[in-house]
Amino acid sequence: MTELELRDLRKTYAARGRPAVDAVRGIDLALRSGELLGLLGPSGCGKSTTLRMIAGLESVTGGDILVGGSSVIARPAQQRNIGVAFENYALYPPLTVAENLAFGLKARKRAARGDVDRKVREIADRVDLTPLLDARPTGLSSGQKQRVSLARALIREPDVLLLDEPLSHLDAAQRDTTRRELKRIQRDLGHTTILVTHDQEEALSLADRIAVMKDGVIQQLGTPYEIYDSP
Ligand code: ADP
Ligand code: ADP
Repeated sequence: MTELELRDLRKTYAARGRPAVDAVRGIDLALRSGELLGLLGPSGCGKSTTLRMIAGLESVTGGDILVGGSSVIARPAQQRNIGVAFENYALYPPLTVAENLAFGLKARKRAARGDVDRKVREIADRVDLTPLLDARPTGLSSGQKQRVSLARALIREPDVLLLDEPLSHLDAAQRDTTRRELKRIQRDLGHTTILVTHDQEEALSLADRIAVMKDGVIQQLGTPYEIYDSP
C-alpha cells in the first residue's frame, strides 16, 4: 500500500526585490507503507524544502502531497501526523528533555499521565537518553540534542517520519548505535520514512530505496544496489 505520495510537487521561493528560486521543480514519488527512502544530493538541490513541504512547515507552489491516500496540502502541520527531526527544529529551552518528549506526545493526543511517563522512558531508553531526562536542552551537545529531536519525532508514533541528517553530529560510536537503533525502530514500528543524508554508508545500511536529487528534480531512483553498483 502506498503511504506517502508526491505528485508533481513544486516550490518557488519568491521574495520581493530578489530573483525567484525554483527550489523544487516537479517531484513524483510514491513510498509504500514501512519503506525507508534515502534522499541524497548536493547542498542546495531542494532536499530540505521537500521535507518541509511534506511536514507542512513550508507552503507548496504546485502539485500535491498524499498521506494514506488523502491530500494533506490544506492541513496545518499538527494535523498531518508526520514526525520530523530537523537540524534546527528547536527544542524548548525552559523544558527538561523529559518534558520536551512529553510535549511532543501531548501535542498529538490526550494521553493519560502514566502512559506519557512510560512512553517517555521507553523512547529515552531506545535512543540512549535516560541519563539526560532531567537535563535542559541548552546544556546538551549537538549530538545529544539530535537524539532528543529524534526521540521527540518518534514518540508521536507518526505515519510518516522525516529525518534530515539525523546522525550528522554524532561521533562514530554513537552513530553506529543510533543507526542500529533506527533500523530496529523502523522494523518494529514500520514508519514510512524519508531520510536525508550525505553519508553513503548510512544510505546503504538503512534505505530500501535511494532517490538522488539535483537542481530540484529526482535524477535517479532505485535500490542502493542499483544506485551504487550501476556502471
Ligand atoms: P538542500 O536541503 O538540498 O540543501 P534546500 O531545500 O535547502 O536544499 O534549498 C534549495 C534551494 O532553495 C537553494 O537554492 C536555496 O538557496 C533555496 N532556498 C531554501 N530556502 C529558501 C528560502 N527560505 N528563501 C529563498 N530561497 C531558499
Ligand atoms: P504547537 O504548540 O502548535 O502544538 P509547536 O510549537 O510544538 O506546535 O511546533 C510548531 C509546529 O510544528 C506545530 O504545527 C507542531 O504540530 C509541529 N511540530 C512540533 N513538533 C513536531 C514534531 N516532532 N514532528 C512534527 N511536527 C512537529
